[in-house]
Amino acid sequence: MPKKKVQTETTTKPKARTPEEPEKEVKPKAAASKKAAPKKAESVQKKKAPKKAATPKKAAPAPQEEKVPELTVEEFPQLPEQILPQPRRSIAFIGSECYPFVKTGGLGDVMYALPRSLIRQNCDVKVILPRYKCIPWEYQEKMVYRGEFTMNLCSDGRSFYVGIMEYVWDGVVYDFIDNEEFFSSGNPYVNLIDDIPKFCFFSKAALAALNYMDWVPDIIHCHDWQAALVPVYLRTLFEGTPVASAKVMLTIHNLRFQGIYNIPTIRYWSGLPDYVFNKDALKQGYEDANMMKGGITYANMVTTVSYTYAGEIQSPFYGENLDAHLRYHSGKLRGIVNGIDYGTWNSYTDSMLAAPYDITNVLQKKKENKRALQEQLGLVQDDHVFVIGLISRLTDQKGLDLVNEILPSLIDGHTQVVILGTGDWRYENSFRYFEIVYKGSVCSNIMYDEGRAHRIYAGADALLVPSLFEPCGLTQLTAMHYGTIPIVRETGGLRDTVQPYNQFSNDGNGFTFDRYDPGLLLDAINRAKTLYFTNRWCWDEMVQRDMDKDVSWDNSARQYRDLYLELKP
Ligand code: ADP
Repeated sequence: MPKKKVQTETTTKPKARTPEEPEKEVKPKAAASKKAAPKKAESVQKKKAPKKAATPKKAAPAPQEEKVPELTVEEFPQLPEQILPQPRRSIAFIGSECYPFVKTGGLGDVMYALPRSLIRQNCDVKVILPRYKCIPWEYQEKMVYRGEFTMNLCSDGRSFYVGIMEYVWDGVVYDFIDNEEFFSSGNPYVNLIDDIPKFCFFSKAALAALNYMDWVPDIIHCHDWQAALVPVYLRTLFEGTPVASAKVMLTIHNLRFQGIYNIPTIRYWSGLPDYVFNKDALKQGYEDANMMKGGITYANMVTTVSYTYAGEIQSPFYGENLDAHLRYHSGKLRGIVNGIDYGTWNSYTDSMLAAPYDITNVLQKKKENKRALQEQLGLVQDDHVFVIGLISRLTDQKGLDLVNEILPSLIDGHTQVVILGTGDWRYENSFRYFEIVYKGSVCSNIMYDEGRAHRIYAGADALLVPSLFEPCGLTQLTAMHYGTIPIVRETGGLRDTVQPYNQFSNDGNGFTFDRYDPGLLLDAINRAKTLYFTNRWCWDEMVQRDMDKDVSWDNSARQYRDLYLELKP
């Protein structure tokens, strides 16, 4: 049976537990790991994989893996429901990026903030990431060596070195999978021909590392196509190993990216058995394999990042050719909107702002931030103009064709537009062009700059998010939290998080439009401008209402925790 053979090859650790054996308690040893760290970290990089195969080292104990006694609801009958102690659950997050180590978009934010929020909900969380060379040195130097082993990966039995480096930060354990061959490029994503082998390796190594560390979580929560083979491996090559007792959840952050390549390539690199390359699992069309599709098939639960997007992706327009597959699996598909991390996004303590503020002084301080932004970006300095921000990857997903079409109509002497983003050259160039033509009114920052993003959220009056599709979207949440009014298209998470302004009842959080049409975007912006210029009192009320809105992770983390409990009652 190929299954069993690969299982023993996968975990070269000789003393792997069988599922029947009781889980061992791992005792904390916080101080010991600190001293040993630098030397061991060095040695990991120098060592060559095959030689180490014969004598795998024992995993060092995780510093904070202390067993906490499980509290029961019955012991606290007097507490309100939200703060009743919940059963403790352990979760392994597996994903390709995580702020602040490496981030290219919203996935990085989620991988950072959700685990932190979950530990406040009585969960143990381990985050498993690739150890990219581009992770800043300030984090690399704090990593502690946890162990190493070799692992078979490809269908011809080629084996690879897997190192585990650990960093414990604010109660969350980060385990980095080390292998220079796969993770030494400057960017986490290069091109599919390199990325497919890289993430086959990562998905398999993450599961093997859990077995190696003797840490079997209740739930394995994997993210996007880069980790979508985790459920497939778990239910095939890892069947019968300790980690197979975990339930697995797959979260789709963006269905556009699925990890599709020809079957021979994915079959070779993944080493998965032939039977998973059928049309109900990985096979797509006649000759391709789709990693996301396989993950959906084998996961116990599939979630996506908003309720509306969970519905949309079951339709041909948003389904990216997986709509039928998702409809078939709709019974296990859920939507939970993201939140933002209130530690990172706090306008009162934000050191990057010219004038930090809170809800009590936002109206005054926003003017100061607007002036500072105008000064920094070379815009005409004027408190009275309406400043519209746009912070985005510059791709066709983000509705930038609409922006290009209407931008000239916006510039009327009372409006300024600030763009921050990188991406497709055609958008980068069109925005550069507009900056030249409308000097002083348009500023295009073609770059990735966290500090500048913070200053735009604080200094702009409104933020545009006119996306063609938007699984959740974080920029509209951050904007609201900074008292900046979102102008969004009613799709995905934008629809779930921005309630349209109603001039009769004077409520709502922003301005919205439905069809993907430049005229409707212009109309929404003009409605915003009309309120801003003619009824500032109502505008200011909305600013305060938005700052007051709960867009934190706590709500979402509670819903994830409930799903974990549903999977492992
Ligand atoms: P996506 O994940 O599709 O890129 P999201 O709205 O979910 O979009 O998340 C984007 C995140 O990246 C936000 O936190 C936003 O502030 C940030 N971001 C996007 N572009 C830039 C940029 N050029 N500079 C700084 N931050 C950016």
